[in-house]
Amino acid sequence: MVVEQVPSAIGLVYALALIVVIACLWYSGRWRQKVGLLILVVTAALGFLIFSPVMPWGFQQLVLHDAEGLGASLVAGAVGLSVLFLLTLVAGRVFCGYLCPVGAVQELAYHAPVPKVVSRQKTAFALVRAAFFVVFLVMAFALSTSLLAWFGIRDFFYLLPTVGALVFGAVLLVSTTLYRPFCRLVCPYGLLLSLAGWKSVFRLQRTGACIECRKCERTCPTDEAKRSDGRSECYLCGRCTDACPVAGALQYRRRADDPQR
Ligand code: SF4
Ligand code: SF4
Repeated sequence: MVVEQVPSAIGLVYALALIVVIACLWYSGRWRQKVGLLILVVTAALGFLIFSPVMPWGFQQLVLHDAEGLGASLVAGAVGLSVLFLLTLVAGRVFCGYLCPVGAVQELAYHAPVPKVVSRQKTAFALVRAAFFVVFLVMAFALSTSLLAWFGIRDFFYLLPTVGALVFGAVLLVSTTLYRPFCRLVCPYGLLLSLAGWKSVFRLQRTGACIECRKCERTCPTDEAKRSDGRSECYLCGRCTDACPVAGALQYRRRADDPQR
């Protein structure tokens, strides 16, 4: 039993440590996209090698009261998921951005050199994910069935040739052109983390150096770069900071630090 819990423990320690490291790099202005890509590759590899830290799956198994599928005791799983929620409340969606294998493979897929579709329908996306959340709860509590199994998350990372794995393969294909469709339309844990991200203490903000050229807004794949946006769907992908022509106009800082926001 203890041996079965090792992969979950490794995944959780990896996620907790890297959240702190990534947030510190962003805050100190030393974040580089190359570092982000390396972390994404390691995170995706952990998904395939030890199926961790796949927290949407952990959240689902917790709701299903399935300690075996969770790979940890229910109490340990609840504590781990709660700590990640609290860290998101502090640092924003660093976990989703770089440390969840499901998010990482979608982020990597979006780097494919194919035309992109950017939807500004944030409310519609949020409503679809909320509807999936209700379906997820009904399936779990009324039918003891797993929604994420239908989406093939586990089968995909275990390289099993199942219908579910094909479904997730199709999601990944869509991810090459539409940014993180699973995260933004389906993920039940992502819905909870989006609420934490919306209220996060640290986040990307425009400073007084901003010249209002709006290049960040045009490049953001989730339409979260406007001054008024809540950052609930900001995955700290860095596309806005890369596109910004003015040094220091976009900074990761404490929410209250910028009176203009
Ligand atoms: S939204 Fe869900 S699937 Fe996407 S990165 Fe976050 S926890 Fe993972
Ligand atoms: S482009 Fe900027 S605001 Fe948009 S998701 Fe990426 S980091 Fe967040």
